[in-house]
Amino acid sequence: MLGTLAKWLRLFGFDTFYANNEMKDGELLQIAKKENRILVTRDKELIFRGRKQSLQVIKISSTDLDVQLKHVLHDVPIDEEAVLSRCSLCNTILEEIKKNEVKNRVPEKIYENNDIFWFCPKCDKIYWMGSHYDKITAKINEIKR
Ligand SMILES: [Zn+2]
Repeated sequence: MLGTLAKWLRLFGFDTFYANNEMKDGELLQIAKKENRILVTRDKELIFRGRKQSLQVIKISSTDLDVQLKHVLHDVPIDEEAVLSRCSLCNTILEEIKKNEVKNRVPEKIYENNDIFWFCPKCDKIYWMGSHYDKITAKINEIKR
């Protein structure tokens, strides 16, 4: 249910595990505990069970993305250095890729206007500073307001 929030947290550089629908609550709590993760959820029962197991829990009650992000960032501040270091789709750490290797894999305009590119070694998505970074900083400023 919080897929968009997860995507944005990854763009901000947070190591974000997103549980799929089939995952049982017990399994999810186990992963959170084992990997020392903060539980971000709207599920009341999960919040209760998480707190009982003394996990750090961030309760999301709004359906508005900006409000959700504000809630999370209130408890865990952004590390500016980590921004745009992870794939928003799969959470993998991005690797730098040579400009000439992304030719024909990104729109021509993007290729012309950027010199630094990254790619996700897992799902092959290509990232660049321009529009991605602008989108992220705009979002950060929006939230700070
Ligand atoms: Zn990826």
